[in-house]
Amino acid sequence: MKHELNQVLLNSKSRIGADISRWQEGWGGDGLKVALEDPTAIIPMIKDAGLLGLGGSGYPAYKKWQAISEQTSSEKYLICNGNEDEPGTFKDRVLLEETPLQVIEGASIAAIACGITNIIFYINPNLDSCIKMMETAVEKWQQSGFYESIQGAGLLMDYKVVASTGHYIAGEETAAIEAVEGSFPFPRGKEPRPTTAGVFGRPTLVNNVETLSNVPHIMRNGVKWFHDLGIKDASGTKLYSLSGDVLSPGVFELPMGTTLEDLIYTYGQGLLVGKKLKAVFTGGPSNTILTGESLDVNLDFNSVQLKRAALGTGAMIVVSQGTGIVKRVAQYMDFFADASCGQCPSCKTGTYYMSQLLNKIDTGKGSKADLDNLVNLCSILPGSGRCHLLEGAVKVVDSSLYHFFNEYTDALKHEFNQLDNAQ
Ligand code: SF4
Repeated sequence: MKHELNQVLLNSKSRIGADISRWQEGWGGDGLKVALEDPTAIIPMIKDAGLLGLGGSGYPAYKKWQAISEQTSSEKYLICNGNEDEPGTFKDRVLLEETPLQVIEGASIAAIACGITNIIFYINPNLDSCIKMMETAVEKWQQSGFYESIQGAGLLMDYKVVASTGHYIAGEETAAIEAVEGSFPFPRGKEPRPTTAGVFGRPTLVNNVETLSNVPHIMRNGVKWFHDLGIKDASGTKLYSLSGDVLSPGVFELPMGTTLEDLIYTYGQGLLVGKKLKAVFTGGPSNTILTGESLDVNLDFNSVQLKRAALGTGAMIVVSQGTGIVKRVAQYMDFFADASCGQCPSCKTGTYYMSQLLNKIDTGKGSKADLDNLVNLCSILPGSGRCHLLEGAVKVVDSSLYHFFNEYTDALKHEFNQLDNAQ
C-alpha cells in the first residue's frame, strides 16, 4: 500500500531558511504560543503524543524531559544534537539547513518545559553550511518577536551554535557534553546520567534534531493529529535516509511505520537498472540487516525489532545481488576500529580484532578457527564498552552471520579444498 509523502517537517513553509518574516507568515510560532500559554501542559502532551527519540534510540522523549524538569538547578542545558556522522544517515542536515527556525522553535519549547536556560545547537563541523545557516537563524530569532515573547514570560534563554569535534563518537550524548565543555569527546560512564549532571555538572537534556523538530507541530496540532500521522501503533512521521543501489536515493518524510517495500520501490523507485535486491542495512552500519523476505516490515521501532533488527536513525542502505556481505561488514568494521575512542580495552582490541578476522575471511585467508572466534566475540563483547559504539559494531556482524552465514563458510572453502588436496 502506498502512503503519501508526508509534509510536516519538510513542508514548503518550513523550507524557508532563516527568513523570519516568512516563517511568521506560515505557521511559525504557533507551537511556541501554545507552549507559553501553559508550560506545565507541554510534557504531558509530548508523553501522550508518543514522541520518541529519533536519533536512533527510540526512547520515549518525555522521560528525559520529565527527569530534567524535576531538577532544581538554576542552570540547565539543552544540547540539540546535530553531529550526524553515521554513514548513510543524512536527515538532520536537511532540517538544519532548510528548516532552522523549526529546530529553534522545537528546542525553545523543550527548554520552556524543562526550565532550561542554555540551548546549544551542536553540529558536525563537516556540515559547514548547516553551521552558517543555524548561526544566521539564531541571530534572527533573538531579534524577533518570538524571542521577545519568551522573555516576556519571564524566561531567559541563551542560544549558541557549537561545532562538534567531528569525530563519529562525538554524537554519543555524554561525548557531546565533553565536547561542549571543550574536551576531547570521550564518552562518560553510565552514571551520573546527563539529566542529573551533564554540561559543567548541570542537568542536561540531549535531544536529536529530528526529535525537537516535531515538537512545534505537536503543540499546534495536538496529540490525536500526531497519532493519526503514523501507521498502526507508531506515531508521527519519520525521516528515512535511503541510499545504496536504488534509483532515487534521498531523505523521505513518510508516516512512521511505512513498509520497507514502499520506501524502496515507491519512493526510491526501485533498484538500479539490472540489479536485484539482496539486503538492506537498517539504521546504518551500526545496526542490523534485513533481507528481501522482510519487505513487508513496517519501519517503526517495534515492528523492525520483531524482525530481529533495529530501525536506528532510519537510514536504509540498500545492497544488490553481487555485493559481498563479508566484504561490506569488514569495511564497516574498519570504520568502527578507526572510530573507537580507545578508552575501553574491549572496544579498542575487540573492533580491531574483528576487523582483522573479517578482512582475513573476506580475502580467502581465513580459517574455521577465525570464524569461530568471530562468532565468539559477538557473544562476549556486548555490554563491555562504555558507549554504544561497541554494541553497534557487534550488532552488524551478528546480523550478517545470522542472515548470510553461507557467505562466511563459502569464503572458507579454500581451507577445506586444501585439506582435501593434502589427503
Ligand atoms: Fe570509546 Fe569504544 Fe569505550 Fe565507546 S565503547 S567509550 S568508543 S572505547
